Amino acid sequence: MSMERQYSHDLMKWLEKFSNELKVNENVTRNSSDVVGKVEGLLHQLKERSYIDAAYLRQLEKEAEQLYYDYLKIKTSSGQRSALNESTSRIPIGSHSLPKLPYQYDSLEPYIHRRIMELHHKKHHQSYVDGLNKAEKNLQEQRKKNKFENIKHWERELAFHGAGHYLHSLFWQVLSPKGGGKPKGELANQIDLDFEGFHSFKNHFSEAANGVEGSGWAILVWSPRVGRLEILTAEKHQNLTQWDVIPLLPLDVWEHAYYLQYENERHRYVNNWWNIINWPYVEERYKTAKRNIWLP
Ligand code: MN
Repeated sequence: MSMERQYSHDLMKWLEKFSNELKVNENVTRNSSDVVGKVEGLLHQLKERSYIDAAYLRQLEKEAEQLYYDYLKIKTSSGQRSALNESTSRIPIGSHSLPKLPYQYDSLEPYIHRRIMELHHKKHHQSYVDGLNKAEKNLQEQRKKNKFENIKHWERELAFHGAGHYLHSLFWQVLSPKGGGKPKGELANQIDLDFEGFHSFKNHFSEAANGVEGSGWAILVWSPRVGRLEILTAEKHQNLTQWDVIPLLPLDVWEHAYYLQYENERHRYVNNWWNIINWPYVEERYKTAKRNIWLP
């Protein structure tokens, strides 16, 4: 497949996903049907033409991106109202797909070579997507049968591939051929406040990244509880979370949490714990978490 064909195919897939997102969120776009219409228009152009040259493709892509940003703006402004109880985008179990890169494979040269980008995206990221789908489906089967086998293994698979998929999806988005420089506005202010300025933030982040061993990441995070930015590292991203998720209901199963009373019978502690959960609080937290809006 030629570069253009491949790219036009990818763009079409992405637009289809965007179009579905718009349909699911009809409540958000109700008053701005022009976005819906324009996305359909772009899809139509891609489907109708048998050959599209590179320049025209880039123009279509620019229009698609602009529409996406318009949509995000509408969604964010209506988000506080609508995200609570109305539907938000939901990826069914086992239905993750490889996201489109927001640029071409060679766009980040000379800093990152085309071939690295191609392998990293098409092969490595794809295998996380496949592994996550497999783990999710497997766990769903086990729930249906109410028979949990190798749960440790499948929870590890879920974390390893989920973290891989979500972090890579985010990684592509935080890079740009027109990137670099310094952050501006609110983020710049927050970095100044939390890290004693951009220069020392950059040094801290780079040092943290240089120190990571093995399959790891350096990650700038926002901590909603303390209202601060923080720099964390994940030496093995599979240990054992899916980065990008928000914890809602933790159960402490370290021995200090139950041993005096239950000794080695953790299962009795786990069983009894269900009697004391503050569900209204968990629901509040769920609603707050659900206000976060980002596309897959
Ligand atoms: Mn990677």
